[in-house]
Parts: sequence; structure tokens; C-alpha cells
Amino acid sequence: MPPKKLHAAIICSPGVGHLVPVLLLARRLITHHNLHVTILAVTTTTSTAESQLLTQFTAGIHLPVIKIPAADISSVVSPDAKVVKKLCAMMRETVPTICNTMSSMDPRPDVLIGDIFSTESWVIAEKFGMPKYVFITGNAWFTGLFTYSLVLDKKVEGQYVDQKEPLEIPGCKPVWPEEIVDPMLDRDDEDYRVYLNQALGVTLADGMLINTWENLEPQSLHALRNNEILTSCVKNTPVYTVGPITKKYEPVGLKNDVIEWLDKQPESSVIYVSFGSGGTLSSEQITELAWGLEMSRKRFVWVVRPPAEHINNGSFFKYGESNGEADYDYLPEGFLTRTENMGLVVSSWAPQVEILNHVAVGGFLTHCGWNSTLESINSGVPMIAWPLYAEQRMNATMLTEELKVAVRPEVLEAKKVVGREEVEEMVRCLMEGEEGKTMRENVKKLKKEAELARSVTGSSYISTCRFIADCWSRIHRSM
Ligand code: UDP
Repeated sequence: MPPKKLHAAIICSPGVGHLVPVLLLARRLITHHNLHVTILAVTTTTSTAESQLLTQFTAGIHLPVIKIPAADISSVVSPDAKVVKKLCAMMRETVPTICNTMSSMDPRPDVLIGDIFSTESWVIAEKFGMPKYVFITGNAWFTGLFTYSLVLDKKVEGQYVDQKEPLEIPGCKPVWPEEIVDPMLDRDDEDYRVYLNQALGVTLADGMLINTWENLEPQSLHALRNNEILTSCVKNTPVYTVGPITKKYEPVGLKNDVIEWLDKQPESSVIYVSFGSGGTLSSEQITELAWGLEMSRKRFVWVVRPPAEHINNGSFFKYGESNGEADYDYLPEGFLTRTENMGLVVSSWAPQVEILNHVAVGGFLTHCGWNSTLESINSGVPMIAWPLYAEQRMNATMLTEELKVAVRPEVLEAKKVVGREEVEEMVRCLMEGEEGKTMRENVKKLKKEAELARSVTGSSYISTCRFIADCWSRIHRSM
């Protein structure tokens, strides 16, 4: 009889940025490690983009995806609550449905994996006696700050943003107040309490899978494993590196309008501009960006969304939905006509990985979501780091200061507007300057390292094997 396959259930919270890495992790566990995986995807709406992703990522393998409708949170959270609070409430209120679904699964999963919004589901793992692991779709430096926030909360007085010195995370690169993650920006906001609770949930997992690789973040990984970060918050949790978990480019032969347009452009001549699945800009910022792109006289593909004035993740719950016929009346007058021969404007959603891998693309202006960041590295494309929300300011710092594969605007605060001259200058620097050339060389080296890490003898492959061995040993111990 063949040995029993390990059956992992992965719980995924709403959002394309969460679904993409979960689908990819599942694929990797199935194809490279012979696991049986079921995804329990909590969904709010099913967008076209999401349906396409599900079809694309489950093709050719047995990967059941059970869609779990997100619980109605209108009676527990106010409509103006921020994203973290909404997501956590949604996931908490959905726990009973997830639990019912899990009880009726046959065979019942052996192990539970949840993303950082799913830690309320640990009660399910406990109920069924399963080991539980958290899948952190961000990087190790972020994980360091995230888990150590439990200690910082006790150590630091006053608002983090008002600190004059960077926040020290033992063994890690310190984090400057202006780089901290969104929920830490205001300690009096209820999102901050929700965030701390999430951090606690993460430290209660039996292990962490992080979407990074050993060579990319040796310092932060060492700190997570050997220093005070995790031991100071509850216990010493094993840390496994599984990255880069990212979409691989596979030419499908089917072309869409963007790819056909790119086919006609010279090599490395186009900058791709996109702010992820949920990023939005104010109308003033859209105007400045449009002028900056036009003034740079470089070719571009720009995924635009209507402006949102007070938030920068305005379309997070509506990812990938275009508003029917796009009218671009929020773009500067005459912009589309004047840039007709040099740029392409796309409404809401574009095939990002295909675009980044196109030979005509030479740069990426990105909001630094970790998936987008990894996709750019995987495609060997240098970046303009334009962080908007979540942990993106830390990602931007890592890309510019440590990895030297990106330039970024001077101002860090999300509320400030980046002017057209600065946009023009950054685009030129990336697409034609010496600095851009060096960044291109650096990112190509990183691409090679990433490929190596996930190859069969690579560090992430070995780390994933260790994670599986850990699952088995916990399962056997609990028998
Ligand atoms: N994405 C895409 N087309 C778009 C916008 C986003 O395919 O027009 C994909 C992108 O390739 C990435 C994910 O959506 O895999 C966005 O994840 P990320 O972590 O970069 O940002 P988030 O949307 O979570 O802020």
C-alpha cells in the first residue's frame, strides 16, 4: 500500500493578494511534495479576476477549492471600519461555517494552514486535534516587526509615528517610524488592537511558513529563529521558508490587447504601472502621475482605477472588477490623445505576470505588495517603489536600500502627493539612467537566486520538506 498522503487544509481570507499565494503554495505542496490539499477560500464576491485565477491555478492538478461565503459583519463592524478590522471580523464570524465544512470533509485534513487573517480558526485545529501553521504571505522582516509588536506595545510609550529613533527589533534591521505597517500608525485606533490580536494568533501557531528564501533575508530569518523576537512573545516557533511562492510565467499562446500592444514595442522600453489588486490614488495624485508619465516620454502600460480621496486601498474588496465601460474622465484633459502612441491605459485589472515577463517591459512602478514585488524579481524587472498601505513601506525600503533594485519617491507618508517632476525623474532614472542599469543587473541576480532557492536542491524546497516532517511528527505525537 502506498504511504498515506498528508492532507493539508489551507484557509484563505478574502482578497486576490491572499488568494494568489495560497493557490500557489497549494500547487507547490501538491506537485513538489505529493501532498493532498484542500483550500477553504472565504469569499466576499466572486470577481472575474478571482474566477480566472481559480481556473488557472487548479488546472491539471487535483486541488479542491471550497468557497465559503464570508459571514455578514454589518451588525458587528461599522461600514467605515478599516480593512484589517473588517477582514478579521469577517474571518472570526466565519469560523463556525469553516468548522462545519471541515467536519463534513472526508477524509478529514491532517493539518491546518491559515493566513494571518485566519488565526481565529486555530480553535478548529484544536477541536480536531490537528497541528496548525500560519502562512505569512509577506517577508521575514515584516514578520519580525509583526510578532515583536507584542513586545513593542509594552516597551514603547506614545505613538510609534512620533518616535525620534527607529524601532529596534532584536537581530533585525530597525524599522523607522515612517515605515511601520498601517495598523501601527495610530495606537488609539481599534485597528491596532485587532492587529496585536492577530500577532498573538500568529505566535500561537505550531510553525510559520514565510514567503521568502534564506539568501534574501538571512538577517531577519536568523533573528526570528535564534534571537529574542519569538521567544519573547510566547514561545519559540519554528520558521520555514517556502518562497518565492509566486506565479510562474507560462506562455499560453492566447493574447489579449495589452500583450498585442506590447508585441509592437521595442525591447525594455515600457514601464508597467500598477497598484495591485486594491490600490487607489487621490485625483490630485492621478493627475501628477499622468503628467509625470507623459513628461518622461517613455512608453507605459498603466492599470488605472477611479480616484479615492481618503483611502489608498479603496477597491480592496472589489478587486479586479472593472466598472463596465471605463470612462477616464478623471485623467488630465487630453492625456489619452496626447499619449496615444506611447502608452496604454487599462481599466482596473491586467495580466500582470504576462506583462512583467514581456520582453518590451523594462520597469515596474509598483505599490510594493509582496506578490507584485516577487513577480517583478522573478521577471528580472527593476522597480519604482511607490508604497501605499499595509507593510508596503517596509518592502519599499528593502527594495531600495538593501536589495538596490528600485528607486522610490522622496516622501514616505502616504498622504503626501508625489509631484509630476519627481515622477518624470524616477521614470527616466529607471528606464534610461546608469542607476537603472545597475538596478536591472541586481534584479537579474536576485531572479537567479530565487530560482535556485525553489529548485529541488534549493533552500526553500528543503525547508518545505522540514515543515512536512514536522507535521508528521506532531501528528504521530498526538496519536
Ligand atoms: N494583479 C494582477 N493584475 C492587476 C493587479 C494585480 O494580476 O491588474 C495580481 C498581481 O499579479 C499579484 C496580486 O494581484 O499577484 C496582487 O498582490 P500584491 O501582494 O502585489 O498586492 P495586494 O493587491 O495584496 O495589495
